[in-house]
Amino acid sequence: MTILVLGSANADLVVTVPHRPRAGETVLGGDVRTLPGGKGANTAVAAARLGARVVFAGAVGRDGHGELLRTSLADAGVDTAHLRTSDRPTGTAHITVTPDGENSIVVSPGANADLRESDIDALPWQDVATLVCSLEIPVPVVCHAIRTAAGHGVRAVLNLSPVTDLPDDVLPLLDPLVVNEQEAEALGTSVDVPRATVITLGADGARLGDRRFPASRVRAVDTTGAGDAFTGALVRELDQGVTLPEAVGFAIRAAAWSVTREGAQPSYPDLADLSGERG
Ligand code: ATP
Repeated sequence: MTILVLGSANADLVVTVPHRPRAGETVLGGDVRTLPGGKGANTAVAAARLGARVVFAGAVGRDGHGELLRTSLADAGVDTAHLRTSDRPTGTAHITVTPDGENSIVVSPGANADLRESDIDALPWQDVATLVCSLEIPVPVVCHAIRTAAGHGVRAVLNLSPVTDLPDDVLPLLDPLVVNEQEAEALGTSVDVPRATVITLGADGARLGDRRFPASRVRAVDTTGAGDAFTGALVRELDQGVTLPEAVGFAIRAAAWSVTREGAQPSYPDLADLSGERG
């Protein structure tokens, strides 16, 4: 079956600086690294690398960053026929990393903000078994996609990141909602509204209702995009017809693999990478 990923595609522009500039200050940093990113594109690559059939719906600009994202998605085997080219520039995430490992990020959504409800209506819903969305694109477009999925009997999964208020009818359609600890805290009792909610706990693993799933013990090198690796692996497993607890167990292993390697998309495992490991 096909997984439809709806979400952002950004070029991550990463520069290391000795310290974060104060207002009015100029700081010289290292060479800029330009990496494919965005929560949507990351999730699509994570699922496709694990063998899923994935269609990505999003928007990029007519620029080199757009080409970088198209290539990265296509190289992972993602169908980009519904990745629209917008007149606005490709979204960018301007990331400064300080020696303490902390980063600060400014996101310019660009083409991501140009996604419309009409883009959703044009998608190949008859082929789709699972929809997965995240929130770096307009909220009404995400809500429209989730309602459309429900109308087609398509399973809807949402990674509610960054955390955003949703209309009352949308949360009960999610199976599951995926949030990290901070997002779960911000949602309060609303985490109990979806059909199921998975809460990721960083190095502590994940929680599904009362059930805890400890993380695999690994030496973490770079946790960037771990949440997207988790969600991509989760939907890959759900698409295979396994139960949600089994899918969470698999997602834990895939996300742990990703944190032992640099970057987001380049750190995502394929099935062979995971087959030698114990769960
Ligand atoms: P990000 O925003 O960095 O993509 P997130 O905040 O959405 O991440 P986390 O809860 O930090 O999500 O991590 C997602 C999953 O990645 C966790 O549930 C866990 O399985 C795995 N993970 C994260 N950090 C580690 C770690 N240090 N060791 C092992 N697994 C980890």
